This record gives sequence, structure tokens and C-alpha cells, in this order.
Amino acid sequence: MEIKKVAYENFRNIAEAEVAFTPGTNVLWGNNAQGKTNILEGIYFFARGKSFRASSDRETVRFGEQCARAELTFRRAASARETVLEAYIPASGKKKLLRSGAPLSGVSEMIGDFTAVLFCPEHLSLVSGSPAGRRSFLDIASAQLSGVYVGELRRFMRALDQRNALIRSCRQGGVYVSDAEWEALAAVMAPSAAYIAGARREYVGRLSGFVAEHFERMTSGNEIPEISYKTQVLPDEDEGAAPVSEMAARIERLLCENTEREIAAGTTLYGVHRDDLVIKLNGREAKSYASQGQTRSLSLAMKLAEGEIAGESGGEYPVFLLDDVLSELDSERRTYILGALRDRQIIVTSCEPELYSGRETANLINMVISDFEGNRGEVMNRVETLCKKYPLYE
Ligand code: ATP
Ligand code: MG
Repeated sequence: MEIKKVAYENFRNIAEAEVAFTPGTNVLWGNNAQGKTNILEGIYFFARGKSFRASSDRETVRFGEQCARAELTFRRAASARETVLEAYIPASGKKKLLRSGAPLSGVSEMIGDFTAVLFCPEHLSLVSGSPAGRRSFLDIASAQLSGVYVGELRRFMRALDQRNALIRSCRQGGVYVSDAEWEALAAVMAPSAAYIAGARREYVGRLSGFVAEHFERMTSGNEIPEISYKTQVLPDEDEGAAPVSEMAARIERLLCENTEREIAAGTTLYGVHRDDLVIKLNGREAKSYASQGQTRSLSLAMKLAEGEIAGESGGEYPVFLLDDVLSELDSERRTYILGALRDRQIIVTSCEPELYSGRETANLINMVISDFEGNRGEVMNRVETLCKKYPLYE
């Protein structure tokens, strides 16, 4: 996967910009608040179908404007042809997506076209952080592999919201919900939950192997990491091979048999929204026992493994987007990451381009926002990108 260029209009702080990338390492550098992360946000939008840092895509519309536009031109390794994905994100109303000029029905039609792995400083606490962070890691990675996963997750989360609203109403009193209504909701949630659990289980199986390889090389240590998937849908590890239909029956039963408890708790207690990853080092849970450096290395290995799996599934490696992450790392880990991604296209943002040693050449893109006068006489800004390809260190 290779990005050729991106173009933006009224996207975040960028009135207009066009940035060209080269294969290998691209370093998007500049002062704070120039819009470096905004450029990555726009690229990753096409991999994920939504912004990675906005609660609503609407936030990406430049203040005072009606509509943001982002355009990504990329090429798959096996194809000489370039594909152009476009997104129009209005300040109110539905976003519009196009592939090479033709409208797409929605996000799930676009998913899988372009793949990327995003790496930001928050990901360094993947192992030590909350289960929600690890679920989100699993969901984002799995969603890029399959539009079906996106649909099932959306169906499950929508039904979960409805169910939680019902539970809250019951708890406050005055609302009667019949068994048939609870059963109908459980019947919607269970098959989706089972699909999600099955996909996550398979993903974690692949993840564990790649993480072990990266961790071993990164630390040259004796510790062996092991990652497993923990879900109520599959209560015991030795039931790991349970078929999806069995998992669906189990989650449906759990939901139907525990409504009283759930009303008392004020929330849905059973389902894939409570899943987690169990990450161990030499048999001990990393969250509780591993050192800071070890949990960091494990988190890095998980992100690198995400790229390996995307590469294995899609037949080619995704683009790696590293937002400010290398400046958070010591030189040993930085060197490892750059070495591991040697043959990939990577786009890194940084205030300190000199950090990117270890690469023979890099496309250095200096991001400077400058003012200019728009058609209506208004002051607008444009990203100046001064691209240079030269050795970082001679
Ligand atoms: P840093 O090096 O600090 O991470 P950056 O270059 O990554 O900086 P961005 O996070 O991309 O900077 O943000 C650039 C600017 O965009 C910020 O000043 C922010 O306030 C501004 N911004 C964010 N959303 C909008 C919006 N919808 N309209 C206009 N400006 C916005
Ligand atoms: Mg930034």
C-alpha cells in the first residue's frame, strides 16, 4: 500500500493543502499546532471510516466553514492503477464518500480499500491501560480487515444502547418490560456478539504469535509473552474452539436469565462490550507484574503485530502512521521500530526531524501554515510543504 498524495479543503485548521508522499519514510515536521496530526487524521479517516480523535466527524470541519473535504490517492502494490478516495464532511448532515468519483453507499463499502496502522503515544499504554483501550485496539484492527465486522459491531452497540436505556427506565420505576421484549433484544444482540467474539478470538490467536516474535527481537530477553482473549461468550480457555452458534446461544441465555441483576446494576452485564485481552509475560499478567519498559515494549509489539496481520490478510503491508510516537521512545526501541518498518511506507510527525536516524533517506516535509487572501478577500491559510529527499544522516 502506498499513499501518493493527500489533499484537504477546510479540514481542521487547513484551508487548503496538498501533500505528496514517497515510498519509505516520510517525516512531516514542523512547530506545534501547524496541523501535522490533522494530516494523519485525514489519512486514517479513509482506513477507519471515521476520525480517530473526534467524537463526531463534524469536528473536522474548519471553524466557520460548511464542509470539509479530504482526498487520498493511493496505489496497491499489485496494481499500477491509482485509487482516489474522497470524503465530504458537512457541518450538518451525512458525510459523502466517493471512490474514483463514484459515490459509495457508506463506510463499510470503503473499508478494506486502504489500510493503515496508526501509532500514537496513547498506544504505548495499551498493555497497562483500561480494557476499553484494548477492546478499541481489537475493534479498529478487526474492522479494517472486514466490513462485516463493522456492521456486526454497530448492530451490537446499537442494541446495547437500547437495552441499557430500558434497564435505566426499569430501574427508575414506572416502566414495565415484558419477557418477550427482553428476549427480542437478546435475539438481536446474541448473533452479533458471537460473530464479534469469534472474529476477535481468531485475531488474538494471530496477534499472540507476532507479538512474541517482535518482543523477543526488541528485548533480546528471555521472557515469553502470551496474549489470550477473555470473554463471557467463551468462559474457559479450553472452550476456545466453541462454534459461533454455541456462543450465540450462550450469550442469549445469559442476557435472558439475568435481567433482574442487570436492572439492579443499572447496566448490561453480559456481552462483548466487557471483553478484554489477557497479556502475560512468562505466565504472569503483565498489567500487574511487568516493568514499565516491558509493558511499553509489549504495546509496541502489539502495534507492529497489527501491521503484520493486516499485511498477511490484505496481501500487502498497510501504511504506518506514527504520530509523535518516536520522540516518546528511547533510542533502542526507536531503532527497532524503524528497522522493523524498513521496507514499509511510513509517515511520521515530529517537531524534531533529527530524531529519525536509522534510515538512509527520508522525504522531509516541512509543515508551515501561511496566510493568503481567498477569493472572497478573506484571510485563509495554506500548508506549505517543502519536500526534500535527502539522507537524514551522512
Ligand atoms: P503538535 O506538534 O502540538 O502535536 P500539530 O501540528 O500536530 O501540533 P494539530 O493537532 O494537527 O497540530 O492541530 C493544529 C491546529 O488545528 C490546532 O491549533 C487546533 O486548535 C486546530 N484545529 C483543530 N480543529 C480545528 C477546526 N475544526 N477548525 C480550525 N482549527 C482547528
Ligand atoms: Mg500533533
